[in-house]
Amino acid sequence: MDFSGQNIIVTGGTRGIGRAVSEAFLRAGANVVALYAGNEQRAEEFCTANKEYADRVETRKVNVADYAEVENFYKWFDEKHGELHVLVSNAGIRRDSVVGMMAEDDWRAVIDINLTGTYNMSKMAVKAMMRKRYGRIIVITSPIGTHGMAGQANYSATKAGQVGFAKSLAKEVASRKITVNCVSPGFIDTDFISDLSDDMAKEYKKSVPMKRFGTADEVADSVIFLAGDGATYITGAVLEVTGGF
Ligand code: NAP
Repeated sequence: MDFSGQNIIVTGGTRGIGRAVSEAFLRAGANVVALYAGNEQRAEEFCTANKEYADRVETRKVNVADYAEVENFYKWFDEKHGELHVLVSNAGIRRDSVVGMMAEDDWRAVIDINLTGTYNMSKMAVKAMMRKRYGRIIVITSPIGTHGMAGQANYSATKAGQVGFAKSLAKEVASRKITVNCVSPGFIDTDFISDLSDDMAKEYKKSVPMKRFGTADEVADSVIFLAGDGATYITGAVLEVTGGF
């Protein structure tokens, strides 16, 4: 895949799945702006590891949940890069608790970052893409949005919400040659699930037909596919990358 000359924004793009996505686009020749929330150390590690692409990669600290911050970011992006070809809305958090015990803050934080963050980033991306009559938006959701998981009602609600959001937006912008799709990863070996005990990890692996967790690179491959020339007629779709889960 050749993405030379294309401008890509990846939220949560400096570690985990987002980092793998950023790096896949860099290897494919794109200009990448990787956003992160505040983990400066991991952002620096990402830059150091990708020194060879220094002229095509930038990191920006942007809280996707903050509308004004996102608006300022897009202003900067528009002045610096002009065109936007691909947005990968990947930033996400978990704050697990059963509903009866769930603190309102934990409900709101997950909704604000995962769901409102996707709206904030996509709204302004669509505005930029409309001008060019081209664009690809890829949202990272989760099978938990459709299957549910005890202790993750807030997370599950956002992941289901992202799918409804993406399918609706896909219908709104299809005539402008902008596609909107979701990638739905199963258990992927990142910091996101590093709190699982060894026993729990073993149990979860048993529930995956492929009997292993996936890698961030395996998710990135699907994102690259949906952003590339092989996916021109795919929109409003959810691509599962779950090892059969
Ligand atoms: P991760 O390793 O924890 O990375 C999360 C990324 O999101 C970090 O770069 C973080 O920035 C960024 N982020 C968090 N809050 C943000 C905010 N308010 N504004 C901007 N960026 C923010 O997680 P991951 O495993 O890569 O997960 C990425 C996505 O995949 C999430 O949407 C998650 O729901 C989804 N997913 C993951 C799995 C899995 O098993 N790993 C499975 C299904 C779906 P900092 O580095 O600055 O903290």
